[in-house]
Parts: sequence; structure tokens; C-alpha cells
Amino acid sequence: MTHRQDAQCSETRAVVHRAVWRADRRVGVMVAAAVVGAFALLHPLPAVAHEAVGPAHCQPLPAVQAWLDLHIVKWDAILATEPGYERPSSVTVCAAPPGRPFADNRANRIFVRGIETVDQQITVAHEYVHIAFQHYPSGHNEGYVEHTARRLIAEFP
Ligand SMILES: [Zn+2]
Repeated sequence: MTHRQDAQCSETRAVVHRAVWRADRRVGVMVAAAVVGAFALLHPLPAVAHEAVGPAHCQPLPAVQAWLDLHIVKWDAILATEPGYERPSSVTVCAAPPGRPFADNRANRIFVRGIETVDQQITVAHEYVHIAFQHYPSGHNEGYVEHTARRLIAEFP
């Protein structure tokens, strides 16, 4: 085998290797998409992300505030077993623009709409979990936050 043939040979190997790698990667992407799809079916993630700096003005929602204050006490036993949980001394509930709930971690404020439906209650719990785990990676993981919020509402409706 001449030097040139040898070089071609390793070039071919490299091309084959790259093709195999690309195929593997494509399968990997498809598997990942299927896993994400299955996860989304089980735990539909909210459409918007929820950590932001809120406006200086807070329009209070007294009924939601009372509901949250009561539930924070109940949720404490569940959340205390989770790493990174820090029960905030207080969380203020403010009215959010329609469809745009979020948590202002620095101000310990959550911006939500209400508690009339289970979905709205999950949203309140969700934004609270962002606050209660704000100094830990899980508090910024939407999957973890949503899963935990659903668990809280399932156990303490
Ligand atoms: Zn969120």
C-alpha cells in the first residue's frame, strides 16, 4: 500500500465514521424529541417562562393572598424534604397581566391571576416554588418547578 492509498483509506474511514456519528446523533435527537414529547404529555409545561423583575407597583389580590398564606403552611412539610428549599418569610401576591404569570424572586412577589380553577392554583403554586427554591438550581428548572407545583396541589387542593 502506497502512502497515498493509505491516506485515502483513512479518509474513507473518517467519512464513514462521520456518517455513522451523524446517524447516531439523528437517532439521539429523535429519541430526545420523543422523550420531551412524552414528558410534555404527562406534564404540560406552561407557555411562558416565569422569572422576571416585576413592576414597582403591586396590585394586591387579597383572596389569593389568603389562600397562599394558608397553603404555604401545608406545603412546608412536603417541600422541607426537597433539597434547596428555603421557606420565605413572606410572599406577596400581585395581579399579573392576563396570561403572564411570573415570580419576582428578588422582591418575593408572585404575579398571578386567581385561584378559581385548578390550573390557576397550580400556577400560584408554581410561582411560589420559584421563590422558595430561588437559591438552588431546581428553582430555575421549569420541569421541576411545574412537577412540584402539581404535586402540592394534588396533595393539598
Ligand atoms: Zn416557571
